[in-house]
Amino acid sequence: MTSGRFAPSPSGDLHLGNLRTALLAWLFARSTGRRFLMRMEDLDRVREGSEARQLADLRAIGLDWDGPVVRQSQRTALYENAIAFLTAAGLTYECFCTRREILEAASAPHAPAGAYPGTCRNLTDAQKSAQTRPPALRLRAEVTEFAVDDVVVGRFHGQVDDVVLRRVDGVPSYNLAVVVDDGDQGVDQVVRGDDLLSSSPRQAYLATLLGITVPTYAHVPLALNSQGNRLAKRDGAVTLEDQAALGLGPRDVLSIMAQSLELAAPDEPVTVEQLLRRFDPAALPRTPWIFET
Ligand code: GLU
Repeated sequence: MTSGRFAPSPSGDLHLGNLRTALLAWLFARSTGRRFLMRMEDLDRVREGSEARQLADLRAIGLDWDGPVVRQSQRTALYENAIAFLTAAGLTYECFCTRREILEAASAPHAPAGAYPGTCRNLTDAQKSAQTRPPALRLRAEVTEFAVDDVVVGRFHGQVDDVVLRRVDGVPSYNLAVVVDDGDQGVDQVVRGDDLLSSSPRQAYLATLLGITVPTYAHVPLALNSQGNRLAKRDGAVTLEDQAALGLGPRDVLSIMAQSLELAAPDEPVTVEQLLRRFDPAALPRTPWIFET
């Protein structure tokens, strides 16, 4: 069964930009006959009560999903299996670099911008046993670039580097977990904010190494504040709770989001089912949504 998904990090309430991305992921999945899955990316930055509030807000705007909510924190064995598979194939290595060392090396002339420079790629056993800090585990990438197909952006070529697979603290990395989960859950359509576009080539490359079919991507424009920065909690009335305090219910917020997607007229009351009938990926606005509070 083919599936789409929404994969929030339960680190606080969803803001209207997050809810709009969730709505789009739901519209993309449902309009193509896919299941829609909900996955909590809770390997990092979890805030108590946040998951329940996020799910309640998603339901309040009318979204539904198939099957139980999946939590990454309960799937460590899957990630470790993938790491073991890559390690057996000679595609991993231990990295002892500090953040600071990586930044310094990466700012050296001719280093590809932002890429890990491969400092620990070929350490000898003696060099490794002389280390005093615990290592992170990195992918030994055999390419420096990879291309993905994106419904919104078109073909996108981006950088691949020796991405971290397991962090120094022993926790599987976001890039590994997202690829393993999408593969395991049969997710073949990934709809998310376009701030993650640059991560998609390395994730797609990692998928091919793990024998996972690369999903179709749709990186959708983000919501920005009036200064053109990514919408954040400090930007004012940006959550359903904030909007409720202004007298606007979830249905009003759904109308605002639908209008921003050119799926509804100003102040037109709508349901997600109506939006589903109107949804056309080709007609999606290609520019960020400026949300003025
Ligand atoms: N958990 C990520 C986030 O909340 C999204 C990851 C993804 O959709 O691939 O930004």
